[in-house]
Amino acid sequence: MARTNLGFSDATGTRLRVRYEDAQVHGLCPICLEDCPVLCTVGRAALRGREVLYPRPDYFGRSVAGSNKIYGLDWADLQIMSDVRAEATFPEEFRNPDKAIFEAVDITTSIGFKHPIKLKVPVTIAALGSTKVAAKNAEHIYAGAAISGILTIIGENVCGMDPNAVISNGKVQDSPDMRRRVEAFRKWWDGEWGDIGVQTNVEDQRLGVDVYAITKLEVNVIERKWGQGAKSIGGEVRIFDLDRAITLRKRGYIVIPDPLDPAVQEAFKAGIIRSFERHSRLGMPTIESFVEDVEKLREQGAKVVGLKMGQYRPYTLVWALKAASEAKLDYVTFDGQPGGTGMSPWPMMLEQGVPTTYMAAIVIEAAYRLWKKGKHVPHIMMAGGFCCPTQIFKVIALSKWPNGPGPFVKAVAMAKPILTAVFKAKLFYEWAVKGELEKRAPQFAKFYGTKPEQIFEVWHDLKVKFGDRLKELPVGAIGIYSYVVEYIGVGLKQLMAGARRFRLDLLDRSLLAALTPLAKEVFKIPMIHELDREAIDALLES
Ligand code: SF4
Repeated sequence: MARTNLGFSDATGTRLRVRYEDAQVHGLCPICLEDCPVLCTVGRAALRGREVLYPRPDYFGRSVAGSNKIYGLDWADLQIMSDVRAEATFPEEFRNPDKAIFEAVDITTSIGFKHPIKLKVPVTIAALGSTKVAAKNAEHIYAGAAISGILTIIGENVCGMDPNAVISNGKVQDSPDMRRRVEAFRKWWDGEWGDIGVQTNVEDQRLGVDVYAITKLEVNVIERKWGQGAKSIGGEVRIFDLDRAITLRKRGYIVIPDPLDPAVQEAFKAGIIRSFERHSRLGMPTIESFVEDVEKLREQGAKVVGLKMGQYRPYTLVWALKAASEAKLDYVTFDGQPGGTGMSPWPMMLEQGVPTTYMAAIVIEAAYRLWKKGKHVPHIMMAGGFCCPTQIFKVIALSKWPNGPGPFVKAVAMAKPILTAVFKAKLFYEWAVKGELEKRAPQFAKFYGTKPEQIFEVWHDLKVKFGDRLKELPVGAIGIYSYVVEYIGVGLKQLMAGARRFRLDLLDRSLLAALTPLAKEVFKIPMIHELDREAIDALLES
């Protein structure tokens, strides 16, 4: 059963006087007291109004949020099937116990057609843009992608938000922030695995960010943005600086309240208004305009063109895939709920849009039908709530028909867990350097030790690889490498070896079984007790 409760949330910093279970239906305590000091959603909204629509403003720039609603269908509703028979082991060269070890599984993949981007792990870092938490951790994120051999996308509004950007005739001529991000990736890139791309929304296109990225920064990958998993309105950030708010307003952004209004300026200076919201405009694409746009981007030099699609209704998801097919796009990232975000309206994150599990079923079926009609099928990346190797196995396997096409899903895009990995690596490293680890995390320190080189399992490998350069590596990058390559990558290899499929393109739907009738219906995958019935009968009758 789908469950949510808008009366309280860790994200908005609201809670109830009574136990949550006692207020499940309407989000207020059964008896609301005149002298209650607790800040529930209604109570906080009575004081802070629209601010309560968002994750806690005091955590802005230091946090990333994502929905915790139960949508009734979860990746856990699919179970991965394993095998032991020689004939179930692929490719055939692995039908040898000395070769069939999980370390030998090939989990590499690629995105795009004419100029494919090779990935060492079927993971990409979804667009992280101008929001403070992404800007602050940019060097860690992009270096982490580079050393992990994966694709990362710089999110929307970076040039427009850059206080030092040079803009003339309404077009970006230079953006030190954008350049810094591209260079942060390239400094650690081996030139072969992964790449860095730039995402563009309506404001970015007006500013000519795509042309700037292609021509001045020699970026290969441009991603258009139609939406994201966390919300179906444009990107938003919170601004705590009046001059910054004024600059953005003058650059054409929607800023609320209007920082050019003298009364607003007075209120800000008096501490009555504490922050501004910067919003982006909404796109209104048509298939024809999109096809033209993609052609133009290619003429301008983009080698790989992709699209980030949000959590819109089923018809619109399929419409986007059709548009991408007609534009011969390289990839589409479909981002469902619960998407991670620096700042998005919390009720929207919970209640509006298609959750990722349902979205994957819709999109994969549409991809299959396009393929059957002989149409171009862009590579698909799914996003929205992925964090574990099991989920990645399942969504890739779901997108390949046994002895048929696919896998249509080439990789999974992540943002929130990537930032979590950066946060944790930075925090524990800082404690270790300051000699505080024993005090802050006593059990961890007792078991692993207190030196920086002891807290990371991958430290030795990276030291061998980078030697003295390791000192320059932003420590959050080590967290990303450890999480993506060692946890997700090795975990995926283990699951694939258990299924006896030693290459990513050999995963298919026959390796999945549904655990609930809803999962069976949505994914069109049989339940475990229905699986293999005919083969079992034939075996027993033979
Ligand atoms: S204000 Fe009323 S509804 Fe809110 S927490 Fe207090 S008692 Fe409960």
